[in-house]
Amino acid sequence: MRYGKGFLAMLIFDYMEKYDYENLYFCQDKATGLKAVIALHDTTLGPATGGCRMWTYDREEDAIEDALRLARGMTYKYAAAGVNLGGGKAVIIGDPKTQKSEALFRALGRFINILNGRYITGEDVGTTLEDMEYIRMETPYVVTLPEHLGGAGPISPYTAFGTIQALKAAHKHLFGTDSLAGRRVAVQGVGSVGYHVVELLAKEGANLVITDIDLEKAKAVAAKFGAETVAPDKIYEVDCDIFSPCALGAVINDETIPLLKCKIVAGCANNQLKEARHGDLLEEKGIFYVPDYIANAGGTIYDTDRLMYGQHNKERAARNVARIYQTMEAIIRIAKEENIPTYQAADRYAERRIGEIRKVKNI
Ligand code: NAD
Repeated sequence: MRYGKGFLAMLIFDYMEKYDYENLYFCQDKATGLKAVIALHDTTLGPATGGCRMWTYDREEDAIEDALRLARGMTYKYAAAGVNLGGGKAVIIGDPKTQKSEALFRALGRFINILNGRYITGEDVGTTLEDMEYIRMETPYVVTLPEHLGGAGPISPYTAFGTIQALKAAHKHLFGTDSLAGRRVAVQGVGSVGYHVVELLAKEGANLVITDIDLEKAKAVAAKFGAETVAPDKIYEVDCDIFSPCALGAVINDETIPLLKCKIVAGCANNQLKEARHGDLLEEKGIFYVPDYIANAGGTIYDTDRLMYGQHNKERAARNVARIYQTMEAIIRIAKEENIPTYQAADRYAERRIGEIRKVKNI
C-alpha cells in the first residue's frame, strides 16, 4: 500500500484501474480560487471518508497523486480498524498560511454536498477545525468537528491510547506479557499524540527517553514524566526495547535501520517506512514492526463513532479503540501463518475484511 513518487507517468485511468479506485473529482471555483481534488477509493464498507489536506503542490499531478494515495490509505485504515467507512481524501492546492478564506472552504463544502454523502471530509495537514466549521455551513458531510457542533473533541489522547494497545499486543507476542513496566522506550516527538504516549507509558512504569526538535517542549515533558532527553538525531541509536516514532514519516529507512537497537518499533507517526522494503529489513534485523496505520487508528475510530452509530458516545468509542489490541493479535497470527512481515499482514487483514463484507452485501 505504498507508492514511490511519479506514478502519474502512468495514465490516470490505468492507475485507477490498477488499484481499483471508484472516482476522482476535480473542483474549480474562479471566484474563491478553489482548486481541489477529491479521490474516492473503495466504498464497500461505507461512504468514502478522509481528511482535507491543503498544500502548496509544485505540480498538479502531485496533488492528484496525494489525493489518490491518501484515499487508498484510508480504505485500509478503516477496514483494519473495524470501521464501516470507505477510503477518500480531498486536497486543496494552495498555501494554508495565505490562501485560506471562509468562501474557499464553503465552496469546497458545496462541491462535497453535491456528492450527497459519498464523501465525508475532515481535518488534515494544513486544515483546522475552524475550516471544517465553514465546510459544515454548506454540507453535513464533515466528520471532524468541534464538540459544540456534535464532533468528538480532541482525538490525540485516543490515538495515543490505540498506539499503546497495539504496542502491548506486540509486547505480549514477544515477551509473554503486556506489562510495559521497566521497559526502556525511546519516543520521537512529544506533540499532540506523543505527549499522551509518554504519559501512558509513564503510567505503565516504563523507562523513558524522549526527544523533540522543540527542545523546551522536550524538557518540560521530560520533567513532568521523569524521562531522559536526547538530541533529535540521537534517538535512533538509544539502547532501548521499544522505539516509538511519534513525529514524522519515513523515519525507518536505510540510514536509521542500522542504528536501531530496539526489539519493537511502535508509534503513531504516519508512513513510518520510507519504502515497503524497509519493513522487510526490520524483520531481517529481528525488529518487530507494529504497522503504523494499525497503531495510529485510535483517533479515527474515536472520531468516526458518530458516523457509525448516529451519535457520538465516548465510552463506546473508547472501547472500540481498545480493540486495536485484538486487531494487532490477528495481524500477528496472519504474519506467522503466512510467513510474511507484519506490514504485509496488516494489508491482508484489511483486504480480507473488505472482501468478506463485499460478499455479505451481495445477500
Ligand atoms: P504534532 O505536530 O502535534 O507533534 C509532532 C511533534 O514532533 C512536534 O512536537 C514536533 O516538534 C516534533 N518533531 C517534528 N520533527 C521532529 C524530529 N525530526 N525529531 C523529533 N521531533 C520532531 O503532531 P501529532 O498530531 O502529535 O502527530 C504526530 C504524528 O502522528 C504525525 O505523523 C501524524 O500524522 C500522526 N498521526 C496523528 C494523529 C492524531 O490524532 N493527531 C492520528 C494519526 C496519525
